[in-house]
Amino acid sequence: MLRLLSIAELTGRLARRESSAREVLQACFDQIAQVDGTVRAFVSYDVADAMAQADEADRLLAAGMTHAEKPLLGVPVALKDVLCHRGQPCTCSSKILKGFVSPYDATVVSRLQAAGAVVFGRLNMDEFAMGSSTENSALWTTTNPWDPARIPGGSSGGCAASVASNECFASLGSDTGGSIRQPAALCGVVGLKPTYGLVSRYGLVAFASSLDQIGPFTKTVEDSARMLGVIAGHDPRDSSSVPQAVPDYARALGRDLKGLRIGLVKEFQIGGVDPAVDAAVRAAVRQLESLGAEPVEVSLPHSEYAAATYYIIAPAEASANLARFDGIRYGLRVDGRDPAELNSRTRGAGFGPEVKRRVILGTYVLSSGYYDAYYLRAQKVRTLIRNDFLKAFEQVDAIVSPTTPTPAFRIGEKADDPLQMYLSDIFTISCNLAGNCGISVPCGFTDASSAAPRLPIGLQILGKPFGEETLLRIAHAYEQSTGWHREKAPLA
Ligand code: GLN
Repeated sequence: MLRLLSIAELTGRLARRESSAREVLQACFDQIAQVDGTVRAFVSYDVADAMAQADEADRLLAAGMTHAEKPLLGVPVALKDVLCHRGQPCTCSSKILKGFVSPYDATVVSRLQAAGAVVFGRLNMDEFAMGSSTENSALWTTTNPWDPARIPGGSSGGCAASVASNECFASLGSDTGGSIRQPAALCGVVGLKPTYGLVSRYGLVAFASSLDQIGPFTKTVEDSARMLGVIAGHDPRDSSSVPQAVPDYARALGRDLKGLRIGLVKEFQIGGVDPAVDAAVRAAVRQLESLGAEPVEVSLPHSEYAAATYYIIAPAEASANLARFDGIRYGLRVDGRDPAELNSRTRGAGFGPEVKRRVILGTYVLSSGYYDAYYLRAQKVRTLIRNDFLKAFEQVDAIVSPTTPTPAFRIGEKADDPLQMYLSDIFTISCNLAGNCGISVPCGFTDASSAAPRLPIGLQILGKPFGEETLLRIAHAYEQSTGWHREKAPLA
């Protein structure tokens, strides 16, 4: 069955001309028709445009083009609805962008297409990427392919659910405080947040510009390396993107872990971690040890302040970034007697409650009199958090932890309690504050019970800035020695 293949397997098949790109894309659409009524990952897709891309891939394959030249030739990839794709709607799962059509391609989209990918659909998310469950989407809540009564995680919930249910072969999402790694963990797929500055954000609708990164959701670590190789690299159109050469990530895979030191964070031994998650991560550490890695305890003394720091800095930046949605330039407009009334009516009608909460919070911490007490202080704590990581990485090559404290929770369970929801990101947030890279790989399952079916658990591995090769090497060695990634969701 085509849809079950990894990118590595699929490109082999396409290269041998055993399947056409059109058949592969059709397999995605068939699966969407089969399961997306339940999963609800896709916000929109353009069948004619996608088929034209697939036909072009088939034409190139017939003309002898190889995957050495175009590594994703014929591979269907879907996008979080926050990335601009020319001529396609971009809603950020918000009512305020109703009717907006992207006038240009994000750099990651141009790079996918230059690599031959068939970029074909848009995936649900928490509104403007604020949330951990997709319940903040103004459209609907995406469900978890392992249990449709549960959330897929967020904010890139549609990205994780679409890959876990084999509706596409990979997707691109964004991670500001965990939005790639957390949903990947809860849906049992691989999610990579690259180092800040490695991947261009040109054409990504900004949430918190000092934290946002784009990264891939894939079925395997090898596929993650392939996707990263395509999207990484300097872009003069994003001033935060770093001008340095992109290594061949796939070449870093397949080595053992002898001589590597793996950090276990003293301060991450907190209460509130689900016993099944704790047990799976402990077993993963033993597995890494058996592969030759040496576990070492490290300290990140300021990590207890990470969530508080994040929930000042991210809303502050969001309040500035979202000022552009003024009812005049983009999407929705609710008329008023004057521009000020038009602006406030449009924003009142167009933004959902979580976005309003963040804009109000962000405006408050930036306002005169409070700036020094909150925003400036949070920036100082951020520096302490970054320094903690730099120190820890003098002792170890990577740090491991659970990706999330619990497996996927029930839809509605935390929807009315923002503080509980914010705690979903307790292990992922500090990586964004520090600007490091991180990945979540499947590391086991909860036991099925009368209360819940078996649910996936994610292992988070954090790496040094621009340490993606080592990160992927560890993740790959772990994945290949355990095989958790081969387990399929009921809706796969
Ligand atoms: N859940 C976090 C938040 O709500 C992180 C979101 C993200 O990474 N985009 O802000």
